[in-house]
Amino acid sequence: MPDATEFSGRTILAVFAHPDDESIACGGTLARLADAGATVVLLCASHGECGSVSDRALVGDGDLASVRSRELHEAAGILGVAEVLLFHHPDGDLRWADVPQLHAEIVSTIERVRPDGVITFAEDGLYWHLDHIGVHERTYTAVLSFGADAPPLYYVTMPKGIMRDVVDAAISNGLSKDSSLWGIEPDAFGDHAKPPTFVIDVRPWVSRKLAAIRSHRTQIGPNSPFRQIADTQARELLGFEPFRRAPTESRWHSVIEALGERVVSS
Ligand SMILES: [Zn+2]
Repeated sequence: MPDATEFSGRTILAVFAHPDDESIACGGTLARLADAGATVVLLCASHGECGSVSDRALVGDGDLASVRSRELHEAAGILGVAEVLLFHHPDGDLRWADVPQLHAEIVSTIERVRPDGVITFAEDGLYWHLDHIGVHERTYTAVLSFGADAPPLYYVTMPKGIMRDVVDAAISNGLSKDSSLWGIEPDAFGDHAKPPTFVIDVRPWVSRKLAAIRSHRTQIGPNSPFRQIADTQARELLGFEPFRRAPTESRWHSVIEALGERVVSS
């Protein structure tokens, strides 16, 4: 097993906006870190209660927030996440609502778990999703407030064109051309991402990443491209997760980079 115990005693904190962000943005890396011995803590700011629903029958008489909470815990279990902190800030309004509270929650989580690295969205929020940008802003300022004692901060990025390739692969498998990624234009993903500084090979963890993504059943329905791509296609398309180390005053040594290949930009 590669990386076995390499991260023993290390803690990584991932901060995201909605259930499913963790699996789509960096599920392979979280699983790889967990397998390498890291304690992975996931902070999710909202229950995703305002998002579209793939199948109302999955919610039944219950409420979407609790269904998505269960789905998130299932995904976290698949990825080997040790602790899930799920907050109830308003989905769709994360950039402006509860700003001091979310900031304080991230600060107190960093104080409590003392992570060796923090992962979150970059400035582009993957595709300019305002909730994602809000979580990026809160996490950035929370980490920055630790000054030189701040843990290293890492931004998830998405290669431009990759979601288009995922959709095209699913269509070649028979997915309807009308199906969509929650109504988001596939080319929007990663469109304005700054170049990564390193890329983590997660190909051996892709089947778990895909299983975690699919466990968000109220978001990933039968017509989702994530449901229709084969493991071999996923290994090719989702098997590399790019990251960028954020510029902070942190004096800490790099941590997650140990898993990655440095990207030399031309
Ligand atoms: Zn999201």
